[in-house]
Amino acid sequence: MPWIDGKSCTGCGICVNECPVDKISMKIEKAEINMAECIRCGICHDVCPQDSVRHDSEKIPNMIDANVEMTKKYMELCAQYLGDVKEKGKCLKRMRKHFNSQKIITERTLKELEKLEDS
Ligand code: SF4
Ligand code: SF4
Repeated sequence: MPWIDGKSCTGCGICVNECPVDKISMKIEKAEINMAECIRCGICHDVCPQDSVRHDSEKIPNMIDANVEMTKKYMELCAQYLGDVKEKGKCLKRMRKHFNSQKIITERTLKELEKLEDS
């Protein structure tokens, strides 16, 4: 999914004009994509002269860090609210189950998407 790197976006407006579904707007002289309605056509990525439209894969390290931080926070909160440090371990188990489910969903979705190759 595309996202705009606000540090390099010059606010030239080219992507705004080229988006076929009109889902990029300018916010304080920077482009912003309406992710809920973007159709993932990739045109904004191709037309940006600054290479400011970036791919999701670049956020993977940050997303992993955020997941680890979220898990640590929940572990602390479980221990705090349930009044027992042992709750940390139980919470960690639940979070591992949660991410394992996400992994299964992703793997199965990719398999289903393979079937769309010739459609
Ligand atoms: S084309 Fe690139 S530099 Fe221009 S507004 Fe869009 S993201 Fe920013
Ligand atoms: S990927 Fe396509 S639909 Fe999405 S914001 Fe870019 S140009 Fe618009």
